[in-house]
Amino acid sequence: MRLKLIHNIMVLLDGKKTAKSLKDEIAKDVVQMIDNEIEAPHLVAILVGDDPASQTYVSAKEKACQSVGITSSIYRLPSKTTEEELLQTVDFLNNDKEVDGFIVQLPLPKHINEQRIIESIDPAKDVDGFHPVNVGKMALGIDAYLPATPAGIIELLKRYDIETEGKHCVVLGRSNIVGSPISIMMGQKKNPGNSTVTLCHSKTKNIKQIAASADILIVAIGKPEFVTADMVKPDAVVIDVGIHRVPSKKTKSGFKLIGDVKFDEVSKKASYITPVPGGVGPMTIAGLLANTLKAAKINRGIN
Ligand code: NAP
Repeated sequence: MRLKLIHNIMVLLDGKKTAKSLKDEIAKDVVQMIDNEIEAPHLVAILVGDDPASQTYVSAKEKACQSVGITSSIYRLPSKTTEEELLQTVDFLNNDKEVDGFIVQLPLPKHINEQRIIESIDPAKDVDGFHPVNVGKMALGIDAYLPATPAGIIELLKRYDIETEGKHCVVLGRSNIVGSPISIMMGQKKNPGNSTVTLCHSKTKNIKQIAASADILIVAIGKPEFVTADMVKPDAVVIDVGIHRVPSKKTKSGFKLIGDVKFDEVSKKASYITPVPGGVGPMTIAGLLANTLKAAKINRGIN
């Protein structure tokens, strides 16, 4: 899908529509597997405790699996689950031949060491792409399970045919799941990629000026509407990863979702921008489904 940009006309990067195309492609592959009497991929999500946001994310992932024919199961564990008990569950899933991939929904209750759990997952089943083996492979540009949000951003840039080579890409936020990996991917020798990358964080000086020098601005800092129009170069490509549920008098529910970018003013200046909701979020879920399909194909010896 090549979209010609007319100066000052902003193009919305429609994550919902793009994720739908991706999901249609995944569903087609799953149907083909079933037609050939090959078992459908199976994804398991482990949910510890009753964090409402985590419950929403896991339900959304389950629904997405159903929509493409991927079998999904949720292991719901109480918040008082010990680290040892969770390690045993991970070990069980590592060895369960019926399961192609699984995720441990983060954040975990405070008494559990997240890193220890992530490192206990078999990298071959780590469809979140958080295990150090997959992170290392990603950093080296070796085929691996890529973390879903950065992979979703790359896919969005690819499908909208956005030029990234030689561009200055500024990433705000250096989390292990978004900021750091997307900064690595954008600097890699591939397309999308080949950008000159600046990674900013809470200790960065002159963040406004740096952001305003970006041709491509990727924002994952977890601060509602942090990026304002004065921080954006005219015609920049703006990718907003942030999600915040804030009170609203205009919606029936009394809440609305906003991002890390002040959409109303920044969209007037950007050439391309992701909305919240409907931008990066749906692409993240599609990335997880793609990784699960990939795991199932590897397990069943399909190219
Ligand atoms: P995170 O773990 O919340 O970390 C935030 C990062 O932003 C840190 O690197 C922090 O710097 C930096 N930061 C915070 N305040 C800053 C400031 N004032 N100036 C500059 N840098 C600042 O990040 P995350 O997990 O990537 O989440 C970011 C946002 O994306 C959240 O709103 C989250 O809900 C959302 N998210 C959305 C999706 C999706 O699918 N759409 C997926 C994942 C996350 P330090 O490292 O120095 O502390």
